[in-house]
Amino acid sequence: AKPLVAVVGRPNVGKSTLFNKLIGQRLSIVEDTPGVTRDRIYAECEWRGKEFMLVDTGGIEPRADDVILSQMRRQAQLAIEKADAIILVVELAAGITANDADIATMLQKSGKPVVLCVNKCDRLGDVPPEFYEFYNLGLGDPVPVSSVHGHGTGDLLDAVFEHL
Ligand code: GDP
Ligand code: MG
Repeated sequence: AKPLVAVVGRPNVGKSTLFNKLIGQRLSIVEDTPGVTRDRIYAECEWRGKEFMLVDTGGIEPRADDVILSQMRRQAQLAIEKADAIILVVELAAGITANDADIATMLQKSGKPVVLCVNKCDRLGDVPPEFYEFYNLGLGDPVPVSSVHGHGTGDLLDAVFEHL
């Protein structure tokens, strides 16, 4: 089977935008789950000749007890369990939130390889000082990305590739 790469992170950081940008660039959607937007969505991908499956998740809110949010968390946990590598998406302007830190801890416990994507770095060629804060998540070198513009997605895929 092809390796599975899961895109996780709290809601609204840009996971689906990233997923769509990645599959729009060089990937083909082979399966999705229409009508169940909070469910997992898969696409078949290829980068530098290596094929893998990418899965978008609805988002993790570790501190929420709302039913829908806990279902989303369960979906994300399933994706993490099945994944061979994980892209954790965080958001530049928000800094490290409590939920980001909880998810990072969850991922460290999973023992899976993680690539940290600092999304919404929209200013090309100019990594702002706030970016370096994300080293404190303890997940290695963060990768600056703008999912809207597509900046940094090649570097992100290169980092993922090293784990496949
Ligand atoms: P998800 O809940 O993590 O899947 O987040 P979405 O992909 O639905 O995006 C949430 C919001 O962030 C939307 O309004 C996106 O347009 C916006 N967004 C996503 N990526 C970027 C980015 O790189 N830059 C900016 N400025 N906005 C972004
Ligand atoms: Mg989404």
